[in-house]
Amino acid sequence: MTTFEDLGVSEPLRRAIAELGFEQPMPVQEKVIPHLLDDASSDVVALAQTGTGKTAAFGLPVIQRIDTSLNKPQALILAPTRELCLQIGSDLADFSKYIPDLRVLPVYGGSSIESQIRSLRAGTQIIVATPGRLIDLINRGVADLSNVHTVVLDEADEMLNMGFLDSIDEILAHVPEERKMLFFSATMPDEIARISKKYMKQPVEFVIGRKNEGTQNVRHIYYMVNARDKYLALKRIADNSPNIYAIVFCRTRRDTQEIADKLIADGYNADALHGDLSQQQRDIVMKKFRDQVTSLLVATDVAARGLDVDDLTHVINYGLPDDTAVYTHRSGRTGRAGKTGVSISIIHSREKGKLREIEKKIGRTFERKEVPTPEHIIEKQLYNLADRLERVKVDDDEIGKYLPGVKRKLEWLSEEDLLKRILSLEFNRLLAYYRDAPRIDFIDEKPRKDKKERGERPSDPREKDRRTAEKGMARLYVNAGKADGFYAGNLIELLNHNVNGKRVDVGRIDLMPGYSLFDVAEGDARRVVEGLTGADFMGKRLHCEIADRDKDYAKASTRRKGKNSADYAGEYEPEMETVRDFFLNRQRSKAAAAARRPGRPKKKS
Ligand code: AMP
Repeated sequence: MTTFEDLGVSEPLRRAIAELGFEQPMPVQEKVIPHLLDDASSDVVALAQTGTGKTAAFGLPVIQRIDTSLNKPQALILAPTRELCLQIGSDLADFSKYIPDLRVLPVYGGSSIESQIRSLRAGTQIIVATPGRLIDLINRGVADLSNVHTVVLDEADEMLNMGFLDSIDEILAHVPEERKMLFFSATMPDEIARISKKYMKQPVEFVIGRKNEGTQNVRHIYYMVNARDKYLALKRIADNSPNIYAIVFCRTRRDTQEIADKLIADGYNADALHGDLSQQQRDIVMKKFRDQVTSLLVATDVAARGLDVDDLTHVINYGLPDDTAVYTHRSGRTGRAGKTGVSISIIHSREKGKLREIEKKIGRTFERKEVPTPEHIIEKQLYNLADRLERVKVDDDEIGKYLPGVKRKLEWLSEEDLLKRILSLEFNRLLAYYRDAPRIDFIDEKPRKDKKERGERPSDPREKDRRTAEKGMARLYVNAGKADGFYAGNLIELLNHNVNGKRVDVGRIDLMPGYSLFDVAEGDARRVVEGLTGADFMGKRLHCEIADRDKDYAKASTRRKGKNSADYAGEYEPEMETVRDFFLNRQRSKAAAAARRPGRPKKKS
């Protein structure tokens, strides 16, 4: 068994890392440390992801090679983000706990330059910097790099992705030619190979794991749905993992905010992280997520870069990134510290090509899974609650005081009734939401003829039945359907919010692409028609009426939209997204307009 001592790590460093619980070097440390400690050896390109122990791999030898009697910068560590700078700075401070007079200074953008100037003037031996801020400090004449003998580029691929190549060029022009260079990168895009040739002398390459792979212990799973069902699939995945702690990656800031807003509105513990937030807002969001106050963080790749969390249960790709390296970074965030991680991709049929390309590049096969069915989700949630009931710590003394009274109140209930009621308390909402929820997997091999038949042609014999109420009930029509993202749960919620008086009894619900038909108790029909008409669903003004047995609603709804009903069967995804975006935007602008008119009473839209 190799020890840190065998690798040549000095005693004060060993003492500090022993306190941190490092008993044995990790593979990247075994390879990199001796190489860096040897003055005569060549430069290094190390392919290693975060979580492999890379900070100590470069940090320990960098610290050991500092001459503490010289109060000038001797090592420079460049990192793409402020958070990574702070993380590295803090790790290096921990490692150098028993080395008096060793100074490490992180300098990064988005924070007062004056205090960084003061600290630089006071003297430091290791600078950990983001490129932009360092150039600023060089230009102001406060960062003197003439004594730097070691330069580390951490997450070099990320720095290139972020367009820092020119800045790196500029910085290296201020560092003496005789220097040791080290690149750490999670992936090996061609640019890294190119710049290592440009800046390094016969670099050796260490690969921890295989090149360009998603972490070995990550399962790569995908769900294929119609584009308009992506959000529903996300909710089902979250519902199916009661203890989920995940980052949901989106491509744009707008998507990020929208998905997070919808999740929050739907009662999930979610938050958004993207570049439109101020640094302070981002810090708060990240802290809440690190502390597991939020369990779903919807983020752009750039904004999530500064976030380092170890215990994610899932990484979720809300659509695939164009660049395989980005996918590798995302999936590398799960499956750390020897645990198995899961990287889930929710894709639509046209992303299949991209998926195959990523599979080829990372050398792993993605498993296709079916979107969890409502039955499966409900069963999983029920068992999870049962599990929690079994494990909950009971404070006998405290609870015991109140037990007799409560017992007396509930003594008319049988054991089974009691259990049913406890479960219903937690699950009625979920049950209502999933009642009649359809299967949403994309069906690839379905023959075209079949698809057409799924539309509601006037000749469809089921159509007439749909317009007929059950005994004692009234059949109602509402102008929102599955194509609007309208499901049973939405209907129930709308009824609860918009219909005055006692709870409405709802019977059979038929959700069609462009409209829905549902039964309510005859006596409730008028109240419901009045309540729902004019109410708002995702920016759509609802119209509700007693269903006319002779009216062809399918035809009416498709005529209104100017489309063939087969359009809603999933083949015209971009249009559906546009329609949806339109609704969402309208809802947003309405909300913004309402916010600009404070004090005006809120009317039904
Ligand atoms: P990093 O890849 O540098 O972000 O490190 C990942 C985690 O592994 C950090 O929490 C380190 O403190 C920890 N770590 C690094 N080296 C060792 C080691 N040799 N033994 C145990 N833990 C380590």
